[in-house]
Amino acid sequence: MNGVLVIVLCVLVAAALIFLVWACSRIGSGVWIKVQCRDLRPGKVTLTFDDGPDPEVTPKVLDVLDSYGVKAYFFVTGSKAEKHPELIRLIVSRGHTVGNHTYTHSPLFPVSGKTFIEDDIRACDSVIDLAVQEAAPTSDSREPGLSASAVAAPEPRLFRPPFGVTNPDIAKILKHTGHKVIGWDVRSFDTVHLKDSLAPSELDAAIGKCLGNILRKTRPGSVILLHDRLAGAPALLTRLIPALRRAGLEL
Ligand SMILES: [Zn+2]
Repeated sequence: MNGVLVIVLCVLVAAALIFLVWACSRIGSGVWIKVQCRDLRPGKVTLTFDDGPDPEVTPKVLDVLDSYGVKAYFFVTGSKAEKHPELIRLIVSRGHTVGNHTYTHSPLFPVSGKTFIEDDIRACDSVIDLAVQEAAPTSDSREPGLSASAVAAPEPRLFRPPFGVTNPDIAKILKHTGHKVIGWDVRSFDTVHLKDSLAPSELDAAIGKCLGNILRKTRPGSVILLHDRLAGAPALLTRLIPALRRAGLEL
């Protein structure tokens, strides 16, 4: 009898652990905090880029988006944005939306203490604010092409947790800071397939794998996860946008 009880307890503990891992690692689980993973623009497919801005790649991504007349969301890290505030201004001036992806993007972010988590989130906000404020129109100076409405930060502020991981501490802090949490429902797996170490001859096949991942799962209202720190991102985007449109999806 004791043996049966031990087995039942072990099964319950294992089930609880599996549930906890799923709840923390699955961006759309909604267990700790409400995360918007679809319908940023109702009925349309939304492109989101994480881990930038990158001085080489982000401007090229913006050029591709411009050439197709597509607006996107960029979840930037504060440490990179601090080095390249001009890229934050460039993203905003082209009509895209900037969101917070923490300052450090530390792999330890989800398991760090509450103070670190909150400081990491707020530091990224400060960098974005500073970059945008530096471009705020004054009586005698304004960055070309940046209108007063374009420099306004989105309200509420948008946040995407690194690695899509949430937990009770992160949820509590985000409720306090007032960020709206944005997830995704379609992963391109670009970080797996579009390694910067790829030979040029391998790029085409790698892009094909990402396209396959995306097109299999995308439907109206989908939010697609991409990364503008990868050198192959502009080439992927150049094939992705026409492919989505051919599939009858609106961007
Ligand atoms: Zn990231």
